[in-house]
Amino acid sequence: MTAQEYSVGSLPAGRKPIVAIDGPAGAGKSTIARHLALRFGLLNLETGAMYRAFALKALRMHLALDEVAALDELTEQTVIRLEAGDAENRVLIDGEDVTGLIRNPAVTDAASRVSVFPSIRAWMVRLQQQMGAAGGVVMEGRDIGTVVFPQAEVKIFLDAAPEVRGMRRFDQMGPSPSVQPDEVIRDLRARDERDRNRADSPLKPAPDAVFLDSTHMTLGEAAQAAEAIVASRLETLAAQ
Ligand code: C5P
Repeated sequence: MTAQEYSVGSLPAGRKPIVAIDGPAGAGKSTIARHLALRFGLLNLETGAMYRAFALKALRMHLALDEVAALDELTEQTVIRLEAGDAENRVLIDGEDVTGLIRNPAVTDAASRVSVFPSIRAWMVRLQQQMGAAGGVVMEGRDIGTVVFPQAEVKIFLDAAPEVRGMRRFDQMGPSPSVQPDEVIRDLRARDERDRNRADSPLKPAPDAVFLDSTHMTLGEAAQAAEAIVASRLETLAAQ
C-alpha cells in the first residue's frame, strides 16, 4: 500500500496525520522516523537537532549553560530552521547550515543541559508546533506525544536497553572512535537521567503511545515493526 492509499477517516479531507516518535538516545528514533516518512509520504522533523543547534550557538558565544537568563536572551536573537532532507534533516541557525557541526560530544552534552529549562523548551515547542501544524509529519524527540502534539494521530515510544543503545551509538562513530564503548554508554545514561528526571516535560511515554522495545531487534526490524504500528493505527482511524 502506498502513502496515498491511506485516507484517514477521522481527519478533515486532505489532512495528513502527525506521527510522534519519542524515546531515549540510541533507541533508533532517527532511522525509524526516516523510514516512516518515506513509507507514508510524511515530512521527517528531528527536534533534537534544534536543541543541538541552539546549544552550538550558546557554546560559540561562551555562555554558561546553567544561566537561563543569558540563554533566554539568546533565544530572542536566534532563528532556527529545520529542513527535511533525504538522509537527514538539515538544521539552520540564523541562516547557517550547522548540520555537520552538531553531533560531537560537546554539543551533545550542551544540548542535554540547555533543554532542561522550561523557557527554552517553551520556545522550542512553539516552533515545533508551527512546523507540524498542517500535519503530514513524523516528528521525533522526547516530548512530542506528551507536550508538542498530544493530539498526534499516532504515537510510538521507542526504547532499548542502555547497553544496546550505547553500542549503536558507538558503532555509528565510524572505524576508529576516540572513546571506548563503556564511555559512550556512561554518557548516554547521564543524558537519559537528565531527560527522564527534569521537572519540565520529562521523557516518558504518553499514556496512549504504543511501546516498542528494540533491544532484541535490528534497526531494520524495528522500522518494520513501527511501520506495522502506524499502518494499523491509520487503518483504525480510516474506519472511524
Ligand atoms: O535526539 P537528540 O539526542 O539529538 O537530542 C539532543 C538532546 O536534546 C537530548 O539529549 C535531549 O536532552 C534534548 N531534546 C529534548 N527534547 C526533544 C528533543 C531533544 O529535550 N524533543
